[in-house]
Amino acid sequence: MIDFNNYQERAITTKIYASEIGVPYVVLGIIGEVGEFIEKFSETEDDTSNDLLTKELGDIYWYLAAFFSEVGQKMGDHIDAKEPLKYYDPVGELSEAVFNIAELTKKYLRDEYPVRMGSERFDKIKHQINQIHLVLLEMCASMDVELETILEANIAKLQSRKERGVLGGDGDTR
Ligand SMILES: [Mg+2]
Repeated sequence: MIDFNNYQERAITTKIYASEIGVPYVVLGIIGEVGEFIEKFSETEDDTSNDLLTKELGDIYWYLAAFFSEVGQKMGDHIDAKEPLKYYDPVGELSEAVFNIAELTKKYLRDEYPVRMGSERFDKIKHQINQIHLVLLEMCASMDVELETILEANIAKLQSRKERGVLGGDGDTR
């Protein structure tokens, strides 16, 4: 079983954004990375795309971990895989989840920010995050890749960029 609290602690050491923009930044990050995943998922249907897809999966989890940090929560206390999916349509499920997260975050910024997110809104976003998590677990199973392997590879990639001073910038292969 994955120790998500330990993953979150290590992931956040590669954070480079300013704290005052934390919540909107990480939510935009979740949306952007889910978009990258959908784009790559939709472009190819053969096994050669698995490497690209698993890299995007790792990026999504980084932003999910950072989101929990920005709202003062431990990832491992909230991530689960017990909520059933209504149907299995990865692109539809992921899109719906990020649209809901965007809307909930907009209302948070309007009504509560910069006070810490209240539990009611947090629970709604958490539900959407778990929907994303469930879809991604299904994707890992279908590609026969362990999520833990993906998370470790993502941490290693970011640590390497940090050591080389290239965490900022663009490009999947920097
Ligand atoms: Mg990416």
